[in-house]
Amino acid sequence: MDMNEKMKTPRGIEPLWNQYIHAKASARGIPLSGNFELTPRCNFNCRMCYVHQTVRAEEEWTAREWLELGRVARDAGMVFLLLTGGEPLIRKDFREIYSGLKRLGLLISINTNASLIDPDWVAFFKKDPPLRMNISLYGASDETYRALCGQGSFHTVAANIRMLREAGIQVRLNASVTPINAKDVPEIYRFARENDLVVKGTAYMFPPSRINGGAYGEAACRFTAEEAAAHTLLCREQYMDPEQIRDMVPTEPHDPTEDCTDGQGERMSCRAGKTNFWVTWDGRMLPCGMFPTDGYDLKHMSFAEAWEATRRDTAAILLPAACRECALRAQCPLCAAACLSETGRTDIRPEYVCRMTHELAEAIRKKYPLKEDCYEGE
Ligand code: SF4
Ligand code: SF4
Repeated sequence: MDMNEKMKTPRGIEPLWNQYIHAKASARGIPLSGNFELTPRCNFNCRMCYVHQTVRAEEEWTAREWLELGRVARDAGMVFLLLTGGEPLIRKDFREIYSGLKRLGLLISINTNASLIDPDWVAFFKKDPPLRMNISLYGASDETYRALCGQGSFHTVAANIRMLREAGIQVRLNASVTPINAKDVPEIYRFARENDLVVKGTAYMFPPSRINGGAYGEAACRFTAEEAAAHTLLCREQYMDPEQIRDMVPTEPHDPTEDCTDGQGERMSCRAGKTNFWVTWDGRMLPCGMFPTDGYDLKHMSFAEAWEATRRDTAAILLPAACRECALRAQCPLCAAACLSETGRTDIRPEYVCRMTHELAEAIRKKYPLKEDCYEGE
């Protein structure tokens, strides 16, 4: 394979200007980036999903409520908005919500499984395009889709992705890699290359603690930590060259017992609760969608109050002290939401995540030793 072709990488997606305005907004406490989870309903039933629930459409916030929230948030500084679900296109009033929010001047992206798209949807989005559509690709065959999502929709989704691309809509692919679709990883990346798309694959599945009654650390459909490490490496091998893969881990083998640092852990470093907020389908504000907490109910408090409370709470969060000086920190998907979902607390090192990261570093060192001519990968 041509390496230039291979280097269609998910890294570098974010331009510097975006980082700059987020830093500015963070310093001023501006909620620059919002996520509206319009519905928990979905026509799929993915086994690793952390949102999908069966509710009646009447239980969800109405189009009017979302549009009013959009206006208030826009006036508070929101520029970027992600419309997500569930499957947001399942809502009968999606077009009303989308067009109304666009008229507010917001830069809107959409998360979708792309199975409900048809020529009429494509014409709609072509006329008034979103900034980007983030499409989850769950496999490379109808059979895999049936096993993981409950519907054999790969060919429909693939055709819809091509239709959107031909209409000039920006598309990015996300791939959740689980034991059920693992065998399709090379095909998923091949599909992305053939369609000139970037795919972001992840083999770390959050426990769906938001909807499983707070059963922290329990995930029905995920790898063992060791398997997750192996599949993370497999994903990287689809778009990175051996030097890049090797450069991502420290030169020296890492001793996990060195991480036992005493004292206080770090504060959160992501954008959740600094410039980013999430509103659930029933109107609760969370710092991000993965937080298995109740959040602040916007039926009982104003947007400004909920945002201030969210900012205050997240600023007080401490991550595990053990992670503070970890040499693998940059490689680890550790964050407050992962700690909470895995352990029920933000300051306890999540065993699964830690083992997965150490295994990944070890696997990379073994397969891609420093001496260049020893590479087995290519
Ligand atoms: S398509 Fe997305 S929202 Fe729907 S069940 Fe699958 S993971 Fe959940
Ligand atoms: S959880 Fe991640 S950051 Fe923390 S010690 Fe383990 S590998 Fe390091």
